[in-house]
Amino acid sequence: MDGEKSLNFIEEIIEADLAAGKHKNILTRFPPEPNGYLHIGHAKSICLNFGLAKKYGGKTNLRFDDTNPSTEETEYVESIKADVQWLGFNWANELYASNYFDDLYAFAIQLIEKQLAYVDDSTSDEIAEQKGTPTTAGKRNKYAERTVAENLQLFEEMKAGKYADGTKVLRAKIDMAASNMLMRDPIIYRIKHAHHHRTGDKWCIYPMYDFAHGQSDSIENITHSICTLEFIPHRELYNWFIENLNIFPSHQYEFARLNMTYTVMSKRKLLQLVNEKYVLGWDDPRMPTISGMRRRGYTAESIREFCDKIGIARRENLIDIGLLEFCVREHLNKISLRRMVVFDPLKITITNYTQTEEILFSENNPEDETAGNRQIPFSKELYIEKEDFMENPPKKFFRLCPEGMVRLKGAYIIKCEEVVKDANGNIIELKCTYIPESKSGSDTSGIHVKSVLHWVSANHAVPVELCLYDRLLTVENVDAAEGDFKDYINPSSLQTITTAYAEPALKNAVINERYQFLRKGYFCLDINSNEQKMIFNRTVTLKDTWAKVNK
Ligand code: ATP
Ligand code: MG
Repeated sequence: MDGEKSLNFIEEIIEADLAAGKHKNILTRFPPEPNGYLHIGHAKSICLNFGLAKKYGGKTNLRFDDTNPSTEETEYVESIKADVQWLGFNWANELYASNYFDDLYAFAIQLIEKQLAYVDDSTSDEIAEQKGTPTTAGKRNKYAERTVAENLQLFEEMKAGKYADGTKVLRAKIDMAASNMLMRDPIIYRIKHAHHHRTGDKWCIYPMYDFAHGQSDSIENITHSICTLEFIPHRELYNWFIENLNIFPSHQYEFARLNMTYTVMSKRKLLQLVNEKYVLGWDDPRMPTISGMRRRGYTAESIREFCDKIGIARRENLIDIGLLEFCVREHLNKISLRRMVVFDPLKITITNYTQTEEILFSENNPEDETAGNRQIPFSKELYIEKEDFMENPPKKFFRLCPEGMVRLKGAYIIKCEEVVKDANGNIIELKCTYIPESKSGSDTSGIHVKSVLHWVSANHAVPVELCLYDRLLTVENVDAAEGDFKDYINPSSLQTITTAYAEPALKNAVINERYQFLRKGYFCLDINSNEQKMIFNRTVTLKDTWAKVNK
């Protein structure tokens, strides 16, 4: 991960292809099926496809793989476009596999004419049974004997809507004894009387993935078609169609999909979480979707950095979610505005403070000189964090205690003089004194304290609501766990805090800004905030366990 990076295996292939003059320019594609929102695994594929094109002066198409009419929706198309753009990438062309339905139909006719495809009336069970097993060859049925003329007519009739769903399919005639089961006369068209989000009711036959994907690549002149490892067995079929149709020789390359600890990534499972209301929607900040991560406050830069760090492998692996959080934290540390927010307030009265208030200045971001300062009002009544005070502290407790002294960040040193309790013995207030000469930046008090606390001025503070998120799942590797993934949903993945007070500078918070709440974590304004209520999402905590373990 350090220093000059060596080429990944796909870059090596591309450099060799370019050096050999095989392609003048490379053209990649990102081919999402619009049946859900994009997740962090897709981000890896996006960064790879767009990143390669950028590095080698090529282009990338965004192609919606919309050959399955029943699960695809325009809402998904829109969200996918927004997510790719937000990640920082621009596609050369916005395309749809459904644009090619006429071409694919013509390809199927070509195969029929070459006696390389036939209409089969068998049921799906019969087809499965006749396929044989990996150790025994399959058997062709009588339908494979149909003449070209007969097949052309039946296929035409299938297209015209003469037959019901499931009563006929078109199959490629390849090899029923092939060791690769996908080569045993695969189905290439099925009948499905369903409305399509783009082609409407024009079609009632739809091509299968294998008959659409490679040909779409070919139609677009894609040079390097990159997909995940489970498509390795499909490559032979991909090449067979290209050869037998004599079309542009796109090539398929496979890399390991991203799997991440404490996370599920398949759209099918994410859809269950949404539909069964385990989360509030596809963009719930706990979701591993791009829209969820964006809402939670992850930056596009940090997601790109993460994808870069994990690299491209040819073997399945499981990436520690801590690495993603590490990347997020690293970026947020550079760009976040520092603010003070007290989550669980304890009132403090500074008994010797005689002014009504004064305005102090503090840096917006010590990591960024250009970020300027903010004004922080200081007054006689303040709030500190309840947990920053202990009446009977253990030895190593350096925060506030009776007779103890701490510094209030950017302000003064205070001393606790008296603990005020209610009738039930609960601490409700601390009476403190402050050291006037100890003002931050011009401290002449000579007093050294061991702790600096965050605080807000009670009369100036703004009430805010906070959403603290934890892992969505309780186990690292849910795919290896027994039972259903939903058995492992973390019941306390969302904690809402309604008692918090923020310094007044946060009144001006805007959605795209990032904040570090001192000593508390990184936060951003949630989209559900309004005039009456500001809601902040905790993007990530300050603590950095991944870096400690791995550096
Ligand atoms: P899912 O199983 O989550 O539904 P998918 O592979 O069906 O994912 P597609 O919309 O078909 O989703 O994927 C679009 C592209 O993103 C494909 O090229 C696919 O290989 C890639 N992709 C999907 N999931 C991952 C992942 N976890 N890691 C890397 N690439 C992925
Ligand atoms: Mg898919």
